[in-house]
Amino acid sequence: AEFRLSEFEKLQVLGHGNGGTVYKVRHRLTAAVYALNVVHTDASLRRQVYREVDILRRAAGSDRVVRFHGMAPTPSGDVALLLEHMDGGSLDTLLRHRGCRPFPEPALAAVARQALLGLADLHSRQIVHRDIKPANLLINAAGEVKIADFGVGKVLRRSLDPCDSYVGTCAYMSPERFDSESYGGDYDPYAADVWSLGLAVLELHRGHFPLLPKGAPLDWAALMVVICFGEAARAVPEGAASSEFQDFLECCLQKESRKRWPVAELLGHPFVAAADRAESEKALRDLLHEDMDES
Ligand code: ADP
Repeated sequence: AEFRLSEFEKLQVLGHGNGGTVYKVRHRLTAAVYALNVVHTDASLRRQVYREVDILRRAAGSDRVVRFHGMAPTPSGDVALLLEHMDGGSLDTLLRHRGCRPFPEPALAAVARQALLGLADLHSRQIVHRDIKPANLLINAAGEVKIADFGVGKVLRRSLDPCDSYVGTCAYMSPERFDSESYGGDYDPYAADVWSLGLAVLELHRGHFPLLPKGAPLDWAALMVVICFGEAARAVPEGAASSEFQDFLECCLQKESRKRWPVAELLGHPFVAAADRAESEKALRDLLHEDMDES
């Protein structure tokens, strides 16, 4: 064990994930606050947790990925991961707290830029996230956005098994993950993260999952149809976005993976690169503080 659970006091539940519960905890001695993800593990989940920890360790040093401080067994045989606490919660929660009112474009530019920096750090370490969505982008009071939840992430080794990569949340999956023949040719897992990021940013712009009508259930067949046969980038109504933003979305949401821009190029796209950084980050913090003041 790298730490003892008894060193920490549970303050509240922050959220529930696939495999367990995330708590806000306080280190008794230093009063420092962390997030503690307690994953209920059977043998197969334990392998997944170790994979997640492996990724978190490899991503250490990136200030756009939620920081990992160690793991410890729990008395009941589960595994607890000690993580940096992101006090603004996820962008998905932030959107819902706003009554699903769209984020203004400057705030979206700040989200996109920071998430791209996180993806750049991951991709340069041969890590694909595979589950980028608003629920996995966390924010803190300083307005910093960081990537979390590597439960289905992967460190790329020599070959790519297309079946093995068939995980993640279907709603944010790129066309080639449904049908690699038609859209990918040779499957590019990095480009799949770019698609998911584009869709996540578009969701924050629309206020709901952008490829289906508001409130429509996310069923598999409907999703496959809109993702593979629709034009995702056209989900922005005419005139509802600046031409830079529209173009940025088109660069992310190309159905053919090889036409999608890689992360490094997207960081130079006018929507993110030309936006006034201080101003866009302030726009994002303002959204957050409206939310934090209300709750
Ligand atoms: P799982 O990996 O089991 O799916 P998640 O990592 O998605 O769990 O966490 C579930 C929820 O808990 C998130 O959506 C978020 O609201 C909250 N959460 C997770 N990690 C943190 C963190 N480091 N700081 C603050 N809240 C967090």
